[in-house]
Amino acid sequence: MRVLVVEDDALLGDAIQAGLKQAGYAVDWMKDGVSADQALLTEPYAIVVLDLGLPRLSGLEVLRRLRARGLAVPVLILTAMDAVEDRIGGLDAGADDYLLKPFDMGELAARLRALLRRASGKPEPLLQVAEVKLDPALHRVWYQDQPVELSVKEFEVLQAFMLNAGKVLTRTRLEEQLYAWGEEVESNAVEVHIHHLRRKLYPAMIETIRGVGYLMPCPKC
Ligand code: CA
Repeated sequence: MRVLVVEDDALLGDAIQAGLKQAGYAVDWMKDGVSADQALLTEPYAIVVLDLGLPRLSGLEVLRRLRARGLAVPVLILTAMDAVEDRIGGLDAGADDYLLKPFDMGELAARLRALLRRASGKPEPLLQVAEVKLDPALHRVWYQDQPVELSVKEFEVLQAFMLNAGKVLTRTRLEEQLYAWGEEVESNAVEVHIHHLRRKLYPAMIETIRGVGYLMPCPKC
């Protein structure tokens, strides 16, 4: 899951980046509003964490621009404790949630999960497709109610398929969702993860659609 973090405070940005990486996200960190605006033009983020007080272009303006372009990506804004007007302005400009600084990393991660659930139209905390269950909060997976051990990237690939069950995902789309800028991507990385998932779960779980991409069939979707 690819997340854009926009925060000009080096210490806080660093802490957010580290915390979200540990939670399995691919993190791009921008330190000013203009860079954030440009990144949002080209990269398919699943979610955005946006500070409002930023150099070059305010967070509020970044938010207005992305909503004006019709982007529906969930946005959580970070604001100072006493800046109630910023919060109101941010929510009115299209933010989906906010956190007051200072905040707990665990709370940030939980709010992002809640926003992603809402955005995917799957309100249940536990994802289930056929006999596969995935818990985004605990980072755990079960097949036929037996726990399955997955690497961080395998988990991310499986989560992407389960959130898009019944839809075809191209390799490019999967790579864009899984890897941050500057992260080394082997040319066949996605194929390797899918190969491991089929072996650890079951072979027919992910179908190859020749020349197009991959599909997780969903009988009840
Ligand atoms: Ca700031």
